[in-house]
Amino acid sequence: MSPVSATYWGIPGYVIFWVLFVIAAGLFAKRIYFLFRLMRLGKQENRFDHMGQRIKNVLFVILPQWCTLRSVTKKDLAGIGHALLFWGFSCFLVSYIVFIGLAEGFGLYPWLMGNNFETVFSSILDIAGLCVMAAMIWAAIRRYIVRPERLELSVEAGVIMVLVFSLMVLHFGIEGFGLAGSGETTNWPPIGSVIANYLSSTGISKNTLITVSQGAWWLHYLVILGFTVYIPRSKHLHILASGANILFKPLASKVVLEPIPLEALEAMESEGSVDLGASKIQDFTWKDLLDLYACTVCGRCHVSCPAHVSGKTLSPKEVIHDLKEHLLEEGPGLLAGNAQATSESPAKTMIGDVIAEEDIWACTTCGACQEVCPVDIEHVRKIIKMRQNLVLAQNKMPESAQLMLRNMQTRGNPWAGAQSLRLRGDWTHDMGLKILGQYEGRVDTLFWVGCTGALIDRNVEATLSLTRVLKAAGVDFGVLGEAEPCCGDPARRAGYEFQFQISAEENIETFKNYNIKKIITSCPHCYNTLKNEYPRYGGDFFEVVHYTELLADLITRGKLKLTNKLNTLLTYHDPCYLSRYNEVFREPRQIIEGIPNAKFKEMERSKNTTFCCGGGGGHMWIEEQHGTTKINHVRMDEVIGTGAETVVTSCPYCLQMLEEGIEQKGVKDSLKAKDLAELVEEAMNQS
Ligand code: SF4
Ligand code: SF4
Repeated sequence: MSPVSATYWGIPGYVIFWVLFVIAAGLFAKRIYFLFRLMRLGKQENRFDHMGQRIKNVLFVILPQWCTLRSVTKKDLAGIGHALLFWGFSCFLVSYIVFIGLAEGFGLYPWLMGNNFETVFSSILDIAGLCVMAAMIWAAIRRYIVRPERLELSVEAGVIMVLVFSLMVLHFGIEGFGLAGSGETTNWPPIGSVIANYLSSTGISKNTLITVSQGAWWLHYLVILGFTVYIPRSKHLHILASGANILFKPLASKVVLEPIPLEALEAMESEGSVDLGASKIQDFTWKDLLDLYACTVCGRCHVSCPAHVSGKTLSPKEVIHDLKEHLLEEGPGLLAGNAQATSESPAKTMIGDVIAEEDIWACTTCGACQEVCPVDIEHVRKIIKMRQNLVLAQNKMPESAQLMLRNMQTRGNPWAGAQSLRLRGDWTHDMGLKILGQYEGRVDTLFWVGCTGALIDRNVEATLSLTRVLKAAGVDFGVLGEAEPCCGDPARRAGYEFQFQISAEENIETFKNYNIKKIITSCPHCYNTLKNEYPRYGGDFFEVVHYTELLADLITRGKLKLTNKLNTLLTYHDPCYLSRYNEVFREPRQIIEGIPNAKFKEMERSKNTTFCCGGGGGHMWIEEQHGTTKINHVRMDEVIGTGAETVVTSCPYCLQMLEEGIEQKGVKDSLKAKDLAELVEEAMNQS
């Protein structure tokens, strides 16, 4: 008999079933509505475009558990456990709808139970139950005994593990005692039948067996309802929010920064109070706030962050966690309508009390946190939005950042010192180049050199190599020479959005005037900005390629021949803005593989999980904070660990940071840093 059809203390089981359900569903809905209203405190943002593609993303990422399996490494297999848990528990969720909701709650018991459908489904559940139990034991051992750095000793995690484990134990109890009590002899479902056969042999009376099975059923039901009420109030809220977060993740570019209209500044200035970027929790968008709900506190971002790894206080996990706590603290006041009072004298200031200014400036915007995050949380733009507030509204920034921004305004590039005073077009002398504005013919392709490649001696060497390689391969291109300004990336990453917007609009106008169709960049930061950020400002009429993509193509088409043997052991340092932001990591390897006799050793952190050189996010100019070590020293240890004689890269910032690391580590005699263009030039038959 169905446990719900029985009467308990004179009360029909159906009544108890539905009363409990309504209480739990009400508490669940109340909390979800509250969280939804909190999320709506955020600013508007359109993430409802391309819904078909978004839904496909969710299905392809969540169902096969790519979200966690993609970060499985030899040292961290936890993603496999999570996938087993997800698949197993999903089977149970379906069973709760079918066997508990439809069969018991709606009285469809005779159609859904006691037939082959039930036997097959229960057999699947038995296997799923074993997988879930194994995953829980594995998770408990990892969290409480092995204790990897990324996981906390959390009580909440323990509660969830016990609840999930107990659901599985109760499932087997209901099945085993129920089958034994029915007196049927069967081999299916596999685990339930083994338990039933054992219980039948113990001589326990059928009535007792059925009573225990029904008791276990009600307990099981109570645990499920308790789980439903607890989840949205716990850190496991991600179970509900992560699917939505993946649905609304950015599609075109990994870090989406919204333009700030100049008029906004003018309007605020006329009102006498400037508040741009994010200084309060409600300055973020609803998607930024949804991110906070989706965090699983897995700590993957924490252990991947170069700032954290090098001993700074910044932890992307803590940033997300602390913002969530702040939202939950401030939110009720804001919802109650005292937004004005709350923002004028909040219990805590978001920048300062919740997130330290030091942490906001420690981020190199490398994107490592976002790459490993299983639920696609966008850390970087939150940090940049807080920087925007510090720079644009509070005029608070490290001195080195101030100098960089001042140089951008006065000199058109971020560099200071003697080298920055050289003429930007000096490198073009005697190169026989088509300089736009001087050359009278038409040029469709522009080689955009970038500030560092044009001004800094070591990087100019790489620029000259690339220029010679392009010419040797017969590429027809022009350069802007003296007229090439900064692309605006350093200003944008440092929070000075207006300077970026001015640079973007002026440069796009230049490209229009010269009718540019294609741009070759040597700097991955310029590449990312021109390719992914300029379209938002009307710069969508030209193709942007990084030189590594172009050289790989020229080699494939036989336009560039690498014939000189280079008897050396190489390793390649992937620039974050090339490999991670834009997934250009195959092409550099393809080029290296084409160099005769060169041997190649990969670093463990490579391709899209590369480790930052320390120079991104304006950090070429912003002084690195004190930590236990420097970011480029951590990377240099990894380079040295490969035993390579040459570390190759394809970014002017990385080249500088690697050279500095080589110098400071005292390995100048055994290790050289080169740009990939220099290596290609060496490998070319130039006779
Ligand atoms: S972008 Fe890089 S430096 Fe910034 S928080 Fe993420 S991992 Fe850390
Ligand atoms: S932000 Fe992402 S990677 Fe970091 S702890 Fe949360 S879920 Fe894990």
